[in-house]
Amino acid sequence: MNQLNFNNRFVTELPGDETGLQQSRQTQGVCWAAVSPTPVQHPTLLAYSSEVLRLLNLSEEDAHSEEFLAAFCGNRLLPGMTAYASCYGGHQFGNWAGQLGDGRAIALGEVLNNEGERWELQLKGAGMTPYSRRADGRAVLRSSLREFLCSEAMHHLGIPGTRALSLIATGENVMRDMLYDGNPAFEPGAVVCRVAPSFTRFGHFEILAARGEHALLQRLIDFTIARDFPQIDRQSPDYFTIWFRLVCERTARLVVEWLRVGFVHGVMNTDNMSIIGLTLDYGPYGWVDNFDPGWTPNTTDAEWRRYSLAQQPPVARWNLERLADALATVAPSRTLLDEGLAHFDATLQTSLSTMLAGKFGLLEWKEEDAALTASVFELMQRAEVDMTEFFRALANVRQQSPDREMLRSAFYREPLYQSHSALFNAWLERYADRLALQQDTDEARRIRMNRVNPRFVLRNYLAQQAIDAATNGNMSLINRLMEAARRPYDDDIPAELTAKRPDWAINKPGCSMLSCSS
Ligand code: AMP
Ligand code: MG
Repeated sequence: MNQLNFNNRFVTELPGDETGLQQSRQTQGVCWAAVSPTPVQHPTLLAYSSEVLRLLNLSEEDAHSEEFLAAFCGNRLLPGMTAYASCYGGHQFGNWAGQLGDGRAIALGEVLNNEGERWELQLKGAGMTPYSRRADGRAVLRSSLREFLCSEAMHHLGIPGTRALSLIATGENVMRDMLYDGNPAFEPGAVVCRVAPSFTRFGHFEILAARGEHALLQRLIDFTIARDFPQIDRQSPDYFTIWFRLVCERTARLVVEWLRVGFVHGVMNTDNMSIIGLTLDYGPYGWVDNFDPGWTPNTTDAEWRRYSLAQQPPVARWNLERLADALATVAPSRTLLDEGLAHFDATLQTSLSTMLAGKFGLLEWKEEDAALTASVFELMQRAEVDMTEFFRALANVRQQSPDREMLRSAFYREPLYQSHSALFNAWLERYADRLALQQDTDEARRIRMNRVNPRFVLRNYLAQQAIDAATNGNMSLINRLMEAARRPYDDDIPAELTAKRPDWAINKPGCSMLSCSS
């Protein structure tokens, strides 16, 4: 553990409030505040990621050491660690919310590994900070477990996101009103150690612009480019434009990746948007079961569906516009920022068509493919077809003899399968005609499609079952889910981990809809 090589640029290169006071307050003129994690009584290691251990050059033995447990539950700072909470603001559900900040996240510093990679460590749920407002700085086991599992699942799906090193039960209870119905209850608490090259959010820039702290905003921009975008030459007169363009591009690519696997983030507020294009802050996220562009897992958003599946690209753009507003206060010109936003639109279009071509096994994207693919998504929605199951089944369809029977497993309701049979047959004919235009074999197409259409996604009901088991001290489902998550494109995932959502899960809290309570 002592070999962790800390090099904490965020705190050494940006100004902070070093009073160490924990009390909630506005912190003007700084990017961070020094804070100590609040110790916990009876920490127990519930899970860790071997892959993330290796990223940090830690061993399995380290993971089981007393030091690891103490460090990653927040009971002890290791040599080289500096604990701090960072200051950011954000637009929440379309409205400027002012200062938010790391209210329950406490960074421990940045590790340089043997490969020269920089990995920032951050505890979530480790106690109060100046940004906790009226909340407790803690996190419950159920949301921590969801974050731990999903962080690693996304990584193995090939989607950029923050990673998770460890999940530690605190042995302390936390009071939450899970359903927001006036019935608060005690729940077990937990701390996740998240790991990422950078946890900087759009909101870090927004708060400085909102406060008129322009010199500090410029400093944060320069710092971010130097640390997180080393490929950009800061001597270039266009460095600012190049940087914002890249932020727009990564954000576009990220939301397209979410669409590819049917992931809905759930709370795309600007304070949850990563400046380097990572999936960040796993709250009431979910994977769509029966395809529905308007689906959101977040109960708080049930009325407006601002952050539903298909809204993610336009919302990402809206968020970039808010970032652009903030950057415009110091940027050489607004036009340059608008060019970045236009680059978002262009990247979105090309990434979307490349992604769809891949999902449907098309070797190249033709203009007519937009109508072909859109029409089957519409059918899937009407006939309540499971998105994940559909694309794996579609890979098995034979070009010479397309058979809708192949798709049957993707339907939730037999009557809907029957009543839509003519429409699916007609669509399959069109699809087969389209496939006939390319030099390909069924087998080659199947292999390609199965590389981009996952067999395993962390369905909401599975995560909930793992939570229920873990609450009773049984970690075996978590371990099995982690195993499946490591190879999401393989055919031979155990059937019970790929089964479509069972009917009992339709209205069960945690299985289809989640509140923000965490
Ligand atoms: P989220 O909705 O999780 O993205 O959080 C929005 C803001 O609320 C962030 O500033 C969080 O740090 C803060 N927050 C959420 N839950 C808590 C909590 N239990 N204690 C302190 N701050 C919190
Ligand atoms: Mg957040």
